[in-house]
Amino acid sequence: MLDTPIEYLKGIGPQRAEVLKKELGIYIYRDLITYYPFRYVDRTRFHKVSEISEDLPHVQLRGVIDKMEIVGQKKVKRLVVLFRDNTGIVELVWFKGYNWVAQKLQLGVEYCVFGKATSFNGRYNLAHPEIELVTEDFLKQQSAFQSVYNSTEKLKFRGLDSEGIRKAQKTLSFQLQDQHIEETLSEEIVSDHKMISRFKAFQQIHFPENAEMLGKAEFRLKFDELFYIQLRLLRLNKVRANTVHGFVFPKVGKLFNEFFSDYLPFELTGAQKRVMKEIRLDMGSGRQMNRLLQGDVGSGKTLVALLSILLAIDNTRASDGAHFQACIMAPTEILAQQHFETFKSLLQEMSIEIALLTGSTKTKERKSIHSKLLSGELNILIGTHALIEDVVQFKNIGLVVIDEQHRFGVQQRAKLRDKNTSPPHMLIMTATPIPRTLAMTLYGDLDTSIIDELPPGRKAIKTMHYMESQRLRVYGFIKEQVALGRQVYIVYPLIQESEKMDYQNLQQGYDNLIVEFPAPNYQVSIVHGKLNKDQKEFEMQRFIKGETQIMVATTVIEVGVNIPNASIMIIESAERFGLSQLHQLRGRVGRGAEQSYCVLMTGYKLGVDSRMRMETMVRTNDGFEISEVDLKLRGPGDIEGTQQSGVMDLKLANLAQDGQILQLARQTAQSLLDEDMNLETEKNKVYLVQLELQQKNRQNWSKIG
Ligand code: ADP
Ligand code: MG
Repeated sequence: MLDTPIEYLKGIGPQRAEVLKKELGIYIYRDLITYYPFRYVDRTRFHKVSEISEDLPHVQLRGVIDKMEIVGQKKVKRLVVLFRDNTGIVELVWFKGYNWVAQKLQLGVEYCVFGKATSFNGRYNLAHPEIELVTEDFLKQQSAFQSVYNSTEKLKFRGLDSEGIRKAQKTLSFQLQDQHIEETLSEEIVSDHKMISRFKAFQQIHFPENAEMLGKAEFRLKFDELFYIQLRLLRLNKVRANTVHGFVFPKVGKLFNEFFSDYLPFELTGAQKRVMKEIRLDMGSGRQMNRLLQGDVGSGKTLVALLSILLAIDNTRASDGAHFQACIMAPTEILAQQHFETFKSLLQEMSIEIALLTGSTKTKERKSIHSKLLSGELNILIGTHALIEDVVQFKNIGLVVIDEQHRFGVQQRAKLRDKNTSPPHMLIMTATPIPRTLAMTLYGDLDTSIIDELPPGRKAIKTMHYMESQRLRVYGFIKEQVALGRQVYIVYPLIQESEKMDYQNLQQGYDNLIVEFPAPNYQVSIVHGKLNKDQKEFEMQRFIKGETQIMVATTVIEVGVNIPNASIMIIESAERFGLSQLHQLRGRVGRGAEQSYCVLMTGYKLGVDSRMRMETMVRTNDGFEISEVDLKLRGPGDIEGTQQSGVMDLKLANLAQDGQILQLARQTAQSLLDEDMNLETEKNKVYLVQLELQQKNRQNWSKIG
């Protein structure tokens, strides 16, 4: 029944079906019932003409038609109807399909009109309103929760405006019977959570009886969506835990202890200690670790990586006594280089072999690295995605660390996983905090650790928002800070769509700046995507060495680059950056002991969203809080990594709002699997069936898409 093609629905037919498929992806009945209203309006409330205002999202009037005529020529030809109640007159206007409307309408009988009022030449009018005869039946059917559906121009043209879609839903709901809608949850769960049946939920979501039933319908359908994503992820997790054998690193060995007692440069923060404990447990457990380490920029993830690596390479393979090896993959050369230097300097007194492998490693060096990896001489390899290449073969890799996860895809993770006979432990580090709900959904198959504490002595970055007219003040501030010996970043936006303009702005900004900050007192670097690698590297190095005080750049400044003396970040046209990007950029400073500052420069006219972004940045340094706001403003679709995650299949649930339902869905799925991991019992069969069905649907979709 639900698989019936949409053209068979009474009132649809082949032509409308064609548009429904193209515009909304509605192919079969099932697609239609899951095409949910985007809001509801109260159709039991009537307004008076005298109450009309543009502020009302819509008005509903009762009255009679005084007069109607077709006026204007060509493009502005339209039907104008004067509609009156006992408080005044309003104009109804149709620009399209008016011949048909004019034929239908009669003078002197009572109509109900529904639409959005706008004011034109001092008079209110409603363009293309819904209009219906007021009959007893009509009044009885008026609902306090009438569903409103998104429609498109092409659909409207075919009579499938919100009203038309609602009619189709009505037709379908009359045909649907209880037995047509398969239940997706066991009776036990339905009754445990006092849910309504799936069948009832579909009816109530489209045609709610009252607020309470609407609430129940939403809860039921959102739960279903979130529950199945969680069930899928948690199963993956369980299956992996039971079938994939992980290396056991039982021993905290010599290297680890030596480093810890002699070379650890500072006391670990509480959060670092906690995370190390979690990692140790994982690597000693016999199950293969897949752990996501989230921690704001500057929270000290590198040290956690280093300690984990020492834990790993102290251990040996039982079969041949070969020591385990470890690697770190970073998204850019500069970052890889920086990790390499950090590791070398921290481990210089110890007998550990470390190498750096990137795209620019010379052939001879590269060959030597390859062979030392194979022989087991090399303990730690640090590099870029050059590590993924098939020629890179380890004797015995035991731990893979991936830095800045969001720049690498799932497939790249998988390639590294395949570099030993059994998959190595994986530690994935990201500095882009993700809201908890999103993390649960995106990385539900990973265990997560969070570093929610900055190293001591770090002063919170002060963030200010300035407008163009305050620029001189900002320059004054820069001069003060440079006089104190600090360094400054000035970042310009650069996006493809407006690349030419953006480069002009950058150049203009730089030209103004060197007038304001002339040599020889000041040295200004500039780095952007049009420079070649060597030029970029040269300028970066000058800044790193402190030879220049100001670095003008586009967003090419690397994520994670650590220059403690750079303590001021100026972001130009800050309104053009997304929240997570602003937060990432701000994270370039605040790495030393000095007070750091971030200045957001914007124009005057800010939209609501931009203002919210600036206020959020000024208010808080907490990456998680920022990510929550980001999710609310943007929705999950625009957040990196969501595309292949199932988040995009969510039609009703909203990760920014439905955290509680998600939590409940996850717990429910978890205890279900704890009890019956293979979903073998009779009552749990329903889940296997659904999982398979969903899998099949997804595959069909990927074929169409
Ligand atoms: P991120 O998490 O952004 O990768 P890093 O690992 O680069 O952060 O650490 C940022 C800075 O904090 C580095 O200079 C590092 O040496 C320092 N650091 C890390 N852990 C501690 C600690 N426990 N105490 C003091 N400083 C620390
Ligand atoms: Mg880092």
